Amino acid sequence: MNGKHILNEMAPYKQGKQMEEVKAEFGLTKIVKLASNENPFGFSDKLNKELPHMLGQLELYPDGHATELRKKLAATLAVYEDQLVFGSGSDELIQIICRTFLYPGVNTVMATPTFPQYKHHSLVEGADVKEVPTVNGYHDLAKMLEAINEQTRIVWLCSPNNPTGSLIPKNDFYMFMDRCPRDVLVILDEAYYEYVDPELKYNAIDGINEYPNLFVLRTFSKAYGLAGLRVGYGIGNESLTAKLNIVRGPFNTSSLAQKAATLAVRDQEFIRETAEKNRIIKKEFQQFLDEQGLSYDDSQTNFLLVKLPVSGNELFDYLLTRGFIVRPGEAIGCPNAARITIGNQQDMKELQAILKEFLH
Ligand SMILES: *Cc1c(COP(=O)(O)O)cnc(C)c1O
Repeated sequence: MNGKHILNEMAPYKQGKQMEEVKAEFGLTKIVKLASNENPFGFSDKLNKELPHMLGQLELYPDGHATELRKKLAATLAVYEDQLVFGSGSDELIQIICRTFLYPGVNTVMATPTFPQYKHHSLVEGADVKEVPTVNGYHDLAKMLEAINEQTRIVWLCSPNNPTGSLIPKNDFYMFMDRCPRDVLVILDEAYYEYVDPELKYNAIDGINEYPNLFVLRTFSKAYGLAGLRVGYGIGNESLTAKLNIVRGPFNTSSLAQKAATLAVRDQEFIRETAEKNRIIKKEFQQFLDEQGLSYDDSQTNFLLVKLPVSGNELFDYLLTRGFIVRPGEAIGCPNAARITIGNQQDMKELQAILKEFLH
């Protein structure tokens, strides 16, 4: 039963605490989950009304081409239908990308800390991983360019970066694309795109024609509030998507997920409201942290990486018994920090009171 050698040195993904688990353990009735950057405002109301009508024909396999969602999204993003690939979350697309382009003897470049699945799937494919430390939460693009060599196949840019929240500025991104060799695939993971301040936002998708080595990842899991349905997508030129489609499973997104995502795209008002509420509540939370003397990285997302005078695990344990679940920094490569999702206003008020208690 010998698997790949590397698996002996790896562990399965360790997920955050589940809400029911915590309720039972501490005899709590209410749990606030601020650990996985889900949308505290749920998802589009329009979807709530339509969902019951979406439950027919579950005995049939889904449309593996996701035709309806593809048409809707292609029109919305102004791309060709063949420039889209769908996945069971963008997580699965990361796996598909690694399986398509990585193998023993080649390497891949990424920031650290960043989204852990890039490294995980790269290692499973036997590739070497070159990690370039972030600076104040920002990608060090100059050092990442330096790290590229003949054997480099993929560079991962996470913008805004999880877990720091920092956005790669527009000019820096295009300068990077201009300097990056054209035979190196650049994955730009924009899981939090919808949250970015309109003044700082840029549409990198426009670049896929100029840069055939650019592939952009987005998801319905975060601002769209559909993490439980598992659907994400990637946008890139047709010769790239054709390769990924060979590796992609034939029915990798469910019929329900496809229908829900199609409806969700139509309700851009919900996305605008989500981003606006997040902006206001995040600002209030930042003011609170400033008052408490706690620093945090610049964030263009719905979470903050908060620096602590103690270990993140210690804060995690304290909050857990009081019904709040956050992500301790130790679990995501940021000791003495915690990644805290911006929740709704009431929950964040309660969190602030508990945090104050913890600090004093
Ligand atoms: C949450 C997240 C993803 C994965 O989202 P899916 O639910 O798999 O679509 C990908 N990248 C980043 C940076 C994330 O934070």
